[in-house]
Amino acid sequence: MTHDDPRPQPSSSRPLLEIRDLNLDFGTPRGRIHALRNVSLDVPGGQVVGIVGESGSGKSTLAYTVMGLLPENAQVTAGSILFERRDLLNMTAHERRGLLGDRLAMIFQDPMTALNPVRTIESQMIEIQHHKHGSRSEKRARIIGMLQRVGIPDPQDRIRAYPHQFSGGMRQRICIAMALLVKPALLIADEPTTALDATLEVQIIHLLKNLQSEIGCSVLFVSHHLGAVAELCDHVVVMYAGEIVEKGNVREIFHNPRHPYTRALLECDPGRIRQRTRVLPTIPGEVPSLLGSNNGCIFRLRCPHASVRCAQESPLEYRIGTEQAVRCHLLEHERMASV
Ligand code: ATP
Ligand code: SF4
Ligand code: MG
Repeated sequence: MTHDDPRPQPSSSRPLLEIRDLNLDFGTPRGRIHALRNVSLDVPGGQVVGIVGESGSGKSTLAYTVMGLLPENAQVTAGSILFERRDLLNMTAHERRGLLGDRLAMIFQDPMTALNPVRTIESQMIEIQHHKHGSRSEKRARIIGMLQRVGIPDPQDRIRAYPHQFSGGMRQRICIAMALLVKPALLIADEPTTALDATLEVQIIHLLKNLQSEIGCSVLFVSHHLGAVAELCDHVVVMYAGEIVEKGNVREIFHNPRHPYTRALLECDPGRIRQRTRVLPTIPGEVPSLLGSNNGCIFRLRCPHASVRCAQESPLEYRIGTEQAVRCHLLEHERMASV
């Protein structure tokens, strides 16, 4: 939050980001891919929400929908995305552009997605501050301070370098510095550490955690790496084949997972496997086709508990704790359906 920002800040009682019943299709020559189905989630102010799920579950699609960076063949068919109480899906292109790099910022898996290879770090980081007040020398001082914060050595000299003159880990640090320089209300990070080795990953996660609590922004953190999610996040959303199958606070999801898919995902997590093994387990079966309509539970073809009902009827979402909500018939008798 900037001191020079006169706009109203979100009240602490309402989530910063509220996604409701979001449905999105991709048009393809083979038909329409239903990549997001009835997705609803909240990102509270100042909190970190992790999104986990196997490849193809719709994590990036969700992140890019919030950022308004979808490809042309994508179509939101239903739902709303309220950010600071304004529906992002009903904004003009001009209004959305005004939010990017100001209230909303993103870090990508490949830092070169965000960096321009033919411009110096300084010129890119000056430009990203175009919404902010201050002279060029003040903006330059902010850049140097932020690069120092993210661990770039000799930032006074290095700001004149080009992206290719940094290692992959340093480039990702620069992207984090760029994203956080504008003090966004919401930072979206899509697999920001997946391309890095384990040591660098730990460093980047700690850096993100420190900067997030310093700036007080919210983060939507997409990752395959459950250990990183456990370390960084307050809440976790589990996606499977375009649907949210379980969500809750980080303790609930990691210590008391209730959806058969969440359990299977955690059982395959290398960080949790105690016995030494050369072959990491995977969840048997494949993610179903997202073409056409799907009756019944989306996970039924891989679920060890599937019954006839699971093939006929889509499960409702059952709220079973203060935060935990699970989309599975097995939870029917524990609590009332919330959706
Ligand atoms: P990963 O972990 O591999 O990054 P993900 O969870 O981010 O996976 P998405 O990239 O969001 O998954 O993809 C969700 C589904 O949408 C997949 O079936 C994917 O093939 C499909 N998809 C994504 N982008 C497009 C596109 N531009 N056109 C058609 N289908 C797409
Ligand atoms: Fe398994 Fe049925 Fe629950 Fe789906 S609804 S996760 S198939 S038990
Ligand atoms: Mg992805």
